[in-house]
Amino acid sequence: MKKFLALVALALMSQPALAQDAPKWSLAIHGGAGTLDPAQMTPEKRAAYEADLQRALDAGAKILADGGSAMDAVKAAIVIMEDSPLFNAGKGAVFTWDGTNELDASIMDGRDRSAGAVAGVKTVKNPILLADTVRTRSEHVFLVGKGAEEFAVSKGFAVMPPEYFATQARREALERLKAEKLSALDVDHKFGTVGAVALDQSGNMAAGTSTGGMTGKRWGRVGDAPMIGAGTYADNRACAVSATGWGEYFIRVGVAHEICARLRTWWTVDPQTMASALGEALEKAGSDDANSFELRLPSAPEDLAQAIADDVMADVAALGGDGGVILVTPAGDAIFSFNTTGMYRGRATSAGVNEVAIFGGEEKASATPDH
Ligand code: ASP
Repeated sequence: MKKFLALVALALMSQPALAQDAPKWSLAIHGGAGTLDPAQMTPEKRAAYEADLQRALDAGAKILADGGSAMDAVKAAIVIMEDSPLFNAGKGAVFTWDGTNELDASIMDGRDRSAGAVAGVKTVKNPILLADTVRTRSEHVFLVGKGAEEFAVSKGFAVMPPEYFATQARREALERLKAEKLSALDVDHKFGTVGAVALDQSGNMAAGTSTGGMTGKRWGRVGDAPMIGAGTYADNRACAVSATGWGEYFIRVGVAHEICARLRTWWTVDPQTMASALGEALEKAGSDDANSFELRLPSAPEDLAQAIADDVMADVAALGGDGGVILVTPAGDAIFSFNTTGMYRGRATSAGVNEVAIFGGEEKASATPDH
């Protein structure tokens, strides 16, 4: 029991207010998670992905290093990935069953939890910017289809022709899906959605996600990416999260909000109150149960956000889904968690971390600061 309470106290000490030497800013990006086969990744292909990830990371990092906002950093990083044909967002989006590209995006500001989202948009070059315009220039949070496009035109967005978004590789994926009666997962196995999360020097956080969805989607299917709370969430009291993966499962778990809510509980509840409540609960359960509680606690404070993200991703896996998340915390952690073989990703912090990676375990440095 004593050991358990000591662990609780240790975990509670990870409250961000206690952080020392925490990075002043941090940024994480993703370009989709999935079953990536190292054998199929030629050096040229790898170099192309890494170059575009690095460009997106550098654009966001520069804004944060210069004292700019988390919101601007998130948008800058995502626009670069939307404009790259390599990722399943903006140009290069996957095809629907009907042979169109229908784009979804969402964005959220952790300062005031203002949020904007669009789904099923076919004519907007950078859906993340439209989502942000819904956030800042409408009374709404979520606009879909034709209405979202009318709103875009009314706010001065150019109308892009369908050919702008179409790429040969994505068209072939749809043809293969139809010819071989495959599922989206068989042809897409690397999802390719893009996202970014940032903490700026003022302590504000933001998150954004943009996608073409899943190959062969029909009937107006919408995944988690544009859903606030599922694919995207930001709250200065907790964290900023962007997700990628099999959207239906991420919606059911409410992944992005679930991670932030669990972190907020740890970080905003008075440590004494939490420790004594847990102690009492354990007392009632009988001290024999201490081990099972112990196992669920992170072994060190800096592992807390990682442990929570991993736990929520395990929940997604338990239901049958897969994918990954990126998050930043008020303490400056820049964290990845995914249950696929790879996730296109990158992170940079004011503490000198700057790296991009594709397959599992490729990180060179820990981006988790000492607290
Ligand atoms: N989450 C996206 C969706 O379900 C797909 C992805 O992450 O690539 O629409």
